[in-house]
Amino acid sequence: MNSETNCVFCRIGKSEIEAQFLHTDEFCFAINDINPISPVHLLVIPKFHYRNFKEILDDDPKLVSHLFSLSDQLSKAQRVDQTGFRLVINQGDDAGQEIEHFHMHLLGGQQLDFPSA
Ligand code: AMP
Repeated sequence: MNSETNCVFCRIGKSEIEAQFLHTDEFCFAINDINPISPVHLLVIPKFHYRNFKEILDDDPKLVSHLFSLSDQLSKAQRVDQTGFRLVINQGDDAGQEIEHFHMHLLGGQQLDFPSA
C-alpha cells in the first residue's frame, strides 16, 4: 500500500491513529467522521493513497465500483437506504477538501440541506 507519512487517512488505515471502524477489507475501510454534520456521517476511504478521483480511475477503475458497492452496503447497515442519503466527494479548494486522500462522505439520518460535507 502506498502511504503518505503525514496523511491522516493513511495513518488511520495503518492503525496509527484511532478511529471508529465500520468496515475494513483489503482495499478500503469506512469510519465515522470525527466531526459529523448529520446523524449518519461516515467516510469510505481506499487504503491506497490516491489524491483524487482521477488517480483512481486511471490506476484501478474497479476500485470505484467497490467503493460504491460498499457505500450501498453501509447505507443499509446504517438504515438510511430507505429514507435517503447523500454521497459527497470534495475535490480541491473550491470544494473545501481538507484531506488530500480520496474519500467519499455518506450522509444521512435527517433532511439534508445544501451545501453539505
Ligand atoms: P474533506 O473536506 O472532504 O477532505 O473531509 C475530510 C473529513 O475528514 C472531514 O469531515 C473531517 O471531519 C474528517 N476527519 C478529519 N480527521 C479525522 C479523523 N481523525 N477521523 C475521522 N474523520 C476525520
